[in-house]
Amino acid sequence: MPVSSDSKQHRHSGARDSANPESRDSGSGGGAQSRNDNGSHLDQDQFLTILSREDALARFEAALFPRPVPSETRPLADALGCALAEDVVAPIDVPPFDRSNVDGFAVRSADIAGAGEGAPVWLLLNDEVIACGIAPMRPVLSGTATAIATGGPVPRGADAIVMVEHTQPASHRAIEVRRAASPGQFVSYAGSDIARGEALLRAGTVIGSREIGMLAACGIAEVQVARRPQVAILSTGDELVQPGEKLRPAAIYDTNGAIVTAAIAENGGEARFLGAIPDDEAELEATMRRTLAESDILVLSGGTSKGAGDVSHRIISRLGKPGIIAHGVALKPGKPLCLAVCDGKPVVILPGFPTSAMFTFHDMIVPVLRRMAGLPPRSDAKVMAKVPVRIASELGRTEFVMVSLVEGADGLIAYPSGKGSGAITSFAQADGFLKIDALADQMTAGSEAEVTLFTPYVRVPDLVIVGSHCTGLDLVTAPLARAGLTVRSIAVGSLGGLAAAKRGECDLAPIHLFDDKTETYNTPYLAAGLELVPGWRRMQGIVFRKDDTRFAGLSAQDAVRAALADPACIMVNRNQGAGTRILIDRLLGGSRPDGYCNQPRSHNAVAAAVAQHRADWGMTIAPVAHASGLGFIPLAEEHYDFALVTARKARPAVRAFLDALASDESRAALTEAGFRPA
Ligand code: AMP
Ligand code: MG
Repeated sequence: MPVSSDSKQHRHSGARDSANPESRDSGSGGGAQSRNDNGSHLDQDQFLTILSREDALARFEAALFPRPVPSETRPLADALGCALAEDVVAPIDVPPFDRSNVDGFAVRSADIAGAGEGAPVWLLLNDEVIACGIAPMRPVLSGTATAIATGGPVPRGADAIVMVEHTQPASHRAIEVRRAASPGQFVSYAGSDIARGEALLRAGTVIGSREIGMLAACGIAEVQVARRPQVAILSTGDELVQPGEKLRPAAIYDTNGAIVTAAIAENGGEARFLGAIPDDEAELEATMRRTLAESDILVLSGGTSKGAGDVSHRIISRLGKPGIIAHGVALKPGKPLCLAVCDGKPVVILPGFPTSAMFTFHDMIVPVLRRMAGLPPRSDAKVMAKVPVRIASELGRTEFVMVSLVEGADGLIAYPSGKGSGAITSFAQADGFLKIDALADQMTAGSEAEVTLFTPYVRVPDLVIVGSHCTGLDLVTAPLARAGLTVRSIAVGSLGGLAAAKRGECDLAPIHLFDDKTETYNTPYLAAGLELVPGWRRMQGIVFRKDDTRFAGLSAQDAVRAALADPACIMVNRNQGAGTRILIDRLLGGSRPDGYCNQPRSHNAVAAAVAQHRADWGMTIAPVAHASGLGFIPLAEEHYDFALVTARKARPAVRAFLDALASDESRAALTEAGFRPA
């Protein structure tokens, strides 16, 4: 069902999303959009046809399949993870001969049929010892036995093995047996494990270590497997720098290159990463043509929005038939995904934001890649979990929301990680994701949802901390991690943490909430069932660049006065609801200087804004100011404490946390980092 999206609709969604890192994902670059509006030229095409997720995938697959899966011969050692191209028939019996299962003596069972504790039977020892790898030379005649090791071939005449523990040496060339043996005792017969001519493994089986073991046991050194598709990966963007290189101003590290390369290898492709190409049409086209000729699949990321600088989708239409199948899919994140087939080869442009890139890759590319590699579809584990908060969703787009799982009083709780599609940690720290139907505009708080896990099974953390995040927290939880306890810290702010603690969804909620009435921190906010564990104090103050002479040597009040007196001076504020914001507003006393509307949500963002000259002053905590090399004027200490859920106090991980918090080690580490332990 193609949904038409005209430019009006587009502007609307762009404007509404502008405060959201997702907004870029909606495909409208602001600058190009306005050029489009004045009608002078069309640098910015629109996503004229947005396909539903199902429609896009169906069209993509229809353009590629059916097709034969080419096969190749691989040495066993290189076949791990490949799908067998044909049935494998066992060429030999395993074991290849009748073999002893124990250390003992090969005997004729009839000889010792009457043996018992009171009736020992004497057997004369034959003059050989059958160790592993030794072919027996002498038969076991009636009244005799031959010493044999585990794995030794059973000699002619013998039909059972007696364990050495059930015998006694008699005279120097005989043994005494005090126990009868049934025929075949402790003998593995030839072919009893694998019989010659048996279908050992079926075509399509994915080769794991067990399969490799079976093949090796039959002496098979190479196998015919589905050929891994050769996949070339290209990142695009002038701003990209490879990990290991120095980050220049306004550049970012190429995340997609590494993550897509790994995900291709995980799903049966032979991945070849070719680096990042600048947004230069001629260079990109030359590279795409060359690599497509050498590969079965080409995966690009970035440059798929329809802005002036986004050129790769234009190149695709020149690379081969039929060309673009879908450009714009009703997915969130991932709308700008571009799917194409050029002369039989899939060419894909993933959205630039890493999380968008990964979701679209897994949802739309992995099924095709696995099919080309002869692999079965992924079978991801799924669990049901309760969503504790309302999740808003855009109508008309299938939305994927990453979640962290914690154990609630009655079942699993799935916390949405709300960092947006530009965030890579939302992927790495999440346990899985849930899907919100394109026709739903929200998931209500308390609803049950199916969570697709990133791992084969649920890993519920030992300690769950939900609330305001602080870098000091990592210092305190370090010993827990060393002790093998898993700690999950979910940053939702102080009030969100308190709400989670009241619902019993976490062990501890870190909070720093100032109460105007009592002029105290945190205690007035505690509800029944919660108790306060003192944490540490964080000095808050004004940050400025050390070379800025407007602030050096002043008190916080004088510094703000100086800033207000200079119309060229720009501040950076904090978000509504942050404890720091209350302090800022008090200092400003009703003034609204330039920059007041710049309201980032973290201490680190304030420091980055000042360090990078986006602002001249702001308020943050001392450790962050010092780590950024900024000047700092102390103002007031903030209390960062923990609301502990009393009912969970006895849990071992909670006790370990409280011990760690009180330990000399973490107090020293906190002090070293610029905090003051309470
Ligand atoms: P684009 O679609 O090229 O406009 O990219 C959208 C956003 O994703 C921009 O913020 C890019 O900087 C970012 N981005 C693009 N490619 C990568 C990449 N390989 N790694 C990390 N971020 C990227
Ligand atoms: Mg780009």
